[in-house]
Amino acid sequence: MSKFLIDKYSALKPYTPGEQPRERKYIKLNTNESPFPPSRCAQRLAAREARRLYLYPDPNVTALTSLMAEELGVSADEVIMTNGSDEVLNFAFMAFCDENREALFPDITYGFYRVFAALSGVPYTEIPLGDDLTVSPDDYIGRRGTVFIANPNAPTGIALPLSEIERIVASDPGRVVVVDEAYVDFGTESAVSLIKKYDNLLVTGTFSKSRSMAGARLGYGVGSAELIPDLVRIKYSTNPYNVNRMTAAAGLGALLDRKYFKCNCKKIIENREWTASELSALGFEMTPTRANFLFVKSDKISGKELYLALRREGILVRHFDSPRISDYVRITVGSKKQMQILVDKIKNLSEMTK
Ligand code: PMP
Repeated sequence: MSKFLIDKYSALKPYTPGEQPRERKYIKLNTNESPFPPSRCAQRLAAREARRLYLYPDPNVTALTSLMAEELGVSADEVIMTNGSDEVLNFAFMAFCDENREALFPDITYGFYRVFAALSGVPYTEIPLGDDLTVSPDDYIGRRGTVFIANPNAPTGIALPLSEIERIVASDPGRVVVVDEAYVDFGTESAVSLIKKYDNLLVTGTFSKSRSMAGARLGYGVGSAELIPDLVRIKYSTNPYNVNRMTAAAGLGALLDRKYFKCNCKKIIENREWTASELSALGFEMTPTRANFLFVKSDKISGKELYLALRREGILVRHFDSPRISDYVRITVGSKKQMQILVDKIKNLSEMTK
């Protein structure tokens, strides 16, 4: 840190992304990416767009926004496309929180919420999950503040039913509720259907997981036609060209190839259920996940040791050295082959620890 950095940022604790090692080829099950390549249609359209990179992209991301709206069953003025969903989440902290409107989110959730709040200098309260690691909607009702809920939550994968999300949104029309649906496509009911009914709801989503485009950085926000312009205002005050040409083209391709998307989601759900039953048979406990990851623990090996042992074996998973969840590891659901290797390695470890 230089002597020039202003005080406001010198205390900031940045987000720690999962490891992206270069030194060795790992089976990478640590950052919830898709094991499948982007759709061929996405690849083709992105490659074709490369020759137009000398021109700025369309700041309104018009074509992609329209197709996304169609896909979601809303109108184009109810959608904003962003540079990953991290960007729309950051915009929401900037637009809807300040010293009089704190941010409220679970104590165990996506680690970036805390960082966004700190970056914007807004107060926040972390609301403890229950002992079973679930979000209790009543904890968010009757409190002032902008609510951020990942549904399914991360890193637990546990989802709230839509009726419970609606109860939180409906409880106070005077505050915004942000529902982060990064993992919604793996078996959770989306809250997008509620945006016509509630103008205080913002739903965010991403192309990083179910659409295999983590490297392209594409996300979106869906909300009422009054709410979205608040985010657009922030976008035009920070980076009007937030979605680059190749990413926008790839996004169009990914949306056009619905069959590939559906098929990949189905495979991930199947692989998740297979891995869950194999690990249960080995004595692992786990949360009832609806995401593309499992959150598991064993009384035979600590979370840290399991993470390190798998790492030595060439498999990367994620361990959080945080209170209440340090016994667990989070394992991204990969291809069937990757999951088979994982289960075999864990079986060998279990033999050793007998
Ligand atoms: N929300 C949650 C809950 C996440 O886990 C992630 C990714 N790690 C994101 C949002 C952001 O994803 P992206 O910026 O790649 O869209």
